[in-house]
Amino acid sequence: MSEKIFVTKTGSCICGNIKFTVKLDEVPRVFNCHCVDCRKKIGGMITIIELRENAINLNYENLSIYEHGGGSQKSIKKHFCKNCAAPILTYVQKWNKYYLYAGLLDDISILKKAINIFYEDSHFPFMEIEKNNLKT
Ligand SMILES: [Zn+2]
Ligand SMILES: [Zn+2]
Repeated sequence: MSEKIFVTKTGSCICGNIKFTVKLDEVPRVFNCHCVDCRKKIGGMITIIELRENAINLNYENLSIYEHGGGSQKSIKKHFCKNCAAPILTYVQKWNKYYLYAGLLDDISILKKAINIFYEDSHFPFMEIEKNNLKT
C-alpha cells in the first residue's frame, strides 16, 4: 500500500485572530457550492476543501458557531471568526466531515480542480460552468 502524501499549509482570517495549519492531500477534494444556504451565508458561491479527520490545527476559542438544519434535517455548523466574521469551517453532520473555506489559505496554488455542487439548483445566471466540472 502506498503512503498518502500530505502537504501542510497555513491560513488565516482577514483580521488574523484565526490562524491555522492544515494537512491537505496533494490533490485536495475541493467543491464549489452554489446552494442557497451558502449563498445566504456568504453572499455568493463558496469554495470549500473537504478535510480528513484531525487535519486542521487552530484555536477554537476565537470561533463562533451558528448551527442550522440542512436539507436532510441533519445539523450543519458554521464556524466563523468572532471578530471579523470570516467563515472558517463548516461541519456537515450528514457526512461527518469538516470543510475549510478555501480562500483562507495563504497559498492557493494547490487548488487546481474543483467540483461544482448544487449548480443546477441555484447558480448565478452569469456563472457558466462546463458540464465536465459538474457533479451530476
Ligand atoms: Zn478574524
Ligand atoms: Zn452550499
